Amino acid sequence: MTKTADFLVIGGGIAGAAAAYELAADGRVVLLEREPVAGYHTTGRSAALYTEAWEKGVWRTLTVASRAFLEHPPPGFTDYPLLSHLPLLIIGRDDQRRLVEELAADAGRNVELALLDDEAARNLCPVLRPGYASLSILEPASRAIDVDALHQGFLRGSRRRGATIELGSEVERLEGTSAGWRVSSRQHVYDTRIVVNAAGAWCDVVARMGGVGPIGLVPKRRTAFTFAAPEGVDLGEMPMVVDVSEQFYFKPEVGQFMGSLAEATPMEPHDVRPEEIDVALAIERIEAATTLQIRHVRRSWAGLRSFVSDELPVVGEDPAAAGFYWLAGQGGAGIMTASAMARLVAGLIIKGAVPQDLADLGLSKGQLAPSRL
Ligand SMILES: Cc1cc2nc3c(=O)[nH]c(=O)nc-3n(C[C@H](O)[C@H](O)[C@H](O)COP(=O)(O)OP(=O)(O)OC[C@H]3O[C@@H](n4cnc5c(N)ncnc54)[C@H](O)[C@@H]3O)c2cc1C
Repeated sequence: MTKTADFLVIGGGIAGAAAAYELAADGRVVLLEREPVAGYHTTGRSAALYTEAWEKGVWRTLTVASRAFLEHPPPGFTDYPLLSHLPLLIIGRDDQRRLVEELAADAGRNVELALLDDEAARNLCPVLRPGYASLSILEPASRAIDVDALHQGFLRGSRRRGATIELGSEVERLEGTSAGWRVSSRQHVYDTRIVVNAAGAWCDVVARMGGVGPIGLVPKRRTAFTFAAPEGVDLGEMPMVVDVSEQFYFKPEVGQFMGSLAEATPMEPHDVRPEEIDVALAIERIEAATTLQIRHVRRSWAGLRSFVSDELPVVGEDPAAAGFYWLAGQGGAGIMTASAMARLVAGLIIKGAVPQDLADLGLSKGQLAPSRL
């Protein structure tokens, strides 16, 4: 039997969950997620950082616009704080000073920053190798995000607002109808006015299923791993450290370190696994920058960060497929920007306009629209 929905969201990662939460305030939402567990793909594999200094242009706008929600979520949204202390230290060697200065000049217009010399950087991060970080940027107000609390908060909040969340429900067919879209999983068939394509790395696959032209989304692998911290190192005050050319990063994470090569290797969407060579290269770079000796990797994983050609998110109605909305291309910032992007897609669907607070920050409808591609 065919069921009906006002809004049908495909994908239950952070993007789809946040969109379902916003849309459920205005109509009957059904969210279909292929995996039996929401957050199995990119959402569950991130570094969980909130930073305004590292993100540029529209990304910074969307990040800033998400901060209020993360700091003060609505009552009952979560039992845990969504943000916790994690300063960001962006480090540069002597030959990278110009890059540090350029980033500081750009980000410093909007974000509170401090420039640190080698000694000041090591006071903050004692494991840095003396003489390595000749110039660094400190962003004191960056934060660690509790991704699970945020994601579950969106899903729980959606259900409370009447949404149906179906896990283990892969969308297998998508057809345009005279009234909107017919969406079929193995379990059910839904008729809906509006489809929101939030299928992460699979957004182009889903679009093709419905005869909608692709946006040229390229999923790119990024590897991460954890390793023990040396005895006596106080992780509580330790910043996250990222190389200014994004060649590696590491950060404290519940009694240990997490590290990454920060690579971006293009590939087809799939359940991506880490490559040993990427872990080895990351270890080499982290050891060159620090006094850490990484003898044993506790756990490693990889996730797909998806980008279109201009590396900006794609949020809006497809120009050739009425009622088909894209919420794609979240790249490496889909967690920290999830709240603003969800409000944006919901505003476009319900009112045909960018929400006022986002417009006040300079965001226009065309900037992220799929028609630009
Ligand atoms: C190593 C790493 C570090 C990162 N660090 C950060 C960070 O510090 N801060 C930050 O903000 N972001 C970070 N990111 C990026 C962030 O994780 C992503 O931008 C975000 O998770 C994307 O969310 P999503 O919902 O679009 O995708 P996903 O979480 O991948 O969700 C998409 C979902 O769609 C489902 N799906 C696909 N096809 C179908 C179908 N046919 N039917 C039903 N369901 C379907 C999939 O099963 C999947 O669950 C990082 C990413 C990686 C890999």
